Amino acid sequence: MMSDESFRAETRAWLEANCPESMRQPVRSDKDATWGGRNPTYAHPDQKLWMDRMGARGWTVPDWPAAYGGGGLTAAETKILREEMARLKCRNPLNSFGISMLGPALLKYGTEEQKLEHLPKIARGEIRWCQGYSEPNAGSDLAGLQTSADDAGDHFVVNGQKVWTSYADEADWIFCLVRTDKTTKQAGISFLLFDMASEGVSTKPILLISGYSPFCETFFDNVKVPKANLLGTLNKGWDVAKFLLGHEREMISGFGLGGSAGDPLIEAARKGVDPLLRAQIALFDVRSKAFSAMSEKFIDELKAGKAHPAQPSMMKYYGTELNKSRHELLMAAGGSDELEWESEASRHGAAPRAWLRTKANSIEGGTSEIQLNIIAKRILDLPS
Ligand SMILES: Cc1cc2nc3c(=O)[nH]c(=O)nc-3n(C[C@H](O)[C@H](O)[C@H](O)COP(=O)(O)OP(=O)(O)OC[C@H]3O[C@@H](n4cnc5c(N)ncnc54)[C@H](O)[C@@H]3O)c2cc1C
Repeated sequence: MMSDESFRAETRAWLEANCPESMRQPVRSDKDATWGGRNPTYAHPDQKLWMDRMGARGWTVPDWPAAYGGGGLTAAETKILREEMARLKCRNPLNSFGISMLGPALLKYGTEEQKLEHLPKIARGEIRWCQGYSEPNAGSDLAGLQTSADDAGDHFVVNGQKVWTSYADEADWIFCLVRTDKTTKQAGISFLLFDMASEGVSTKPILLISGYSPFCETFFDNVKVPKANLLGTLNKGWDVAKFLLGHEREMISGFGLGGSAGDPLIEAARKGVDPLLRAQIALFDVRSKAFSAMSEKFIDELKAGKAHPAQPSMMKYYGTELNKSRHELLMAAGGSDELEWESEASRHGAAPRAWLRTKANSIEGGTSEIQLNIIAKRILDLPS
């Protein structure tokens, strides 16, 4: 087995030779990020090149087993890869709900057939997934969901509506919570995987204050889903759902982390904004570094199976607050120019649109109030 030093040297050399220059810049907008899928769009051709090169090594999911399209790296090697990518400022080669949310749930709850069917396609960015959890009357009270999946022999028939389904209109498949027993609440939920191209699935975008509409209402009208697409046990989907939510919260918590070199916020401070703002940026940077160190510790504990189950709630709460303050500071540092909405120079308002987007960080994946409730109950042991 290769020593960690040799692995670092080899990884560094490979990244230097294979990460295109254009992929060593921060992602500036949603369109600039790589999502893959059956009908992918790329703002720059290097996005595909970078995703394919990393995917071929399994490095879009470095710690997944090689049999499922992963890199088969140890926790230490995965950390080295992350560090070397950060050193070169390499972008994440693939943004994917499949990687950050569904993949871990498939690895834990999937049958061998399901793993072999879905994980390699996720790793190579071939299939884009969306998350069908929330419904018009089931957000924080998620277990109140009503979308039904009725038993029809070898398949289920799904009827109902989801809401706030991010990128449903661009996704290829959905991981979806459905009700398979109407007589009970949590114990009547199942977890289904199905193709968004199935007959009876339709989506309707919801327009946001930023002018974008990455969210949809998603409707199911007698959608046939083979029983083989059930993830985990019938009526025990709530366990899968909660496990996946932990990973979603961990993913969302990472939004707030800025790098040092090349970070627009640090660059702004260097350019000499007013002293008060510089002090606020310095304070943000200290908090961000402390959070980063804590995230490292958390991820190590998670990989070792030693994390407290409520730890993602802590990370989600603090990480999303950080991300909001990061964009407040960016807007303040840019002054009134930063509010420019339509010009080419402003990349069509990338900054104010990103700032507005952060307002949703403390809602998505479970609101801050819900995270604080979880922390109060499960970590501080306060009475409910
Ligand atoms: C950007 C974004 C992306 C999203 N993407 C997806 C997606 O892809 N798929 C998906 O399924 N869903 C998605 N959602 C939905 C998201 O998970 C829900 O919005 C969230 O869980 C909150 O539910 P709700 O909107 O129904 O609010 P509600 O549950 O109605 O909450 C309204 C307010 O009441 C508070 N509240 C509710 N219950 C309590 C309580 N017990 N104690 C204290 N306060 C409480 C909440 O904190 C909140 O402030 C997304 C949401 C956003 C904003």
